[in-house]
Amino acid sequence: MPSTADYADRLRMAELRVTRPRIAVLEAVYAHPHADTETIFSAVRVGLPEVSRQAVYDVLNALTAVGLVRRIQPLGMVARYESRVGDNHHHVVCRSCGVIADVDCAVGEAPCLTPSDDENILDGFVLVEAEVIYWGLCPECSTVRS
Ligand SMILES: [Zn+2]
Ligand SMILES: [Zn+2]
Repeated sequence: MPSTADYADRLRMAELRVTRPRIAVLEAVYAHPHADTETIFSAVRVGLPEVSRQAVYDVLNALTAVGLVRRIQPLGMVARYESRVGDNHHHVVCRSCGVIADVDCAVGEAPCLTPSDDENILDGFVLVEAEVIYWGLCPECSTVRS
């Protein structure tokens, strides 16, 4: 886990002013991978009881905008945040309990997947990223069922 000084450095490198809520939110995202806003809010409140829900939303948006955290939003679920940025990893989501795990990119770098016939399918678009969500049953839920 990075230290408070590391979080401050990251904020400065992203040209964001270093504030306690921003540090606390970064800390919470590192501590709780794929957490939703509520979880992050509760974690931040432990150290900063006066922080508002809106402030946490705003910080999450600012951190996402500069790429310090990544937002993922599987279909039908609330947004989740994670600190694993800078790679093109994907996610597997349990259809039963909603637990999320990381799946490494198949080729190790974006865009990972390329349509078989670039010219026709992409219609002139330059491909930057492929976002893949696998749906399945986590080990716990699959044992319950069988
Ligand atoms: Zn499950
Ligand atoms: Zn992830």
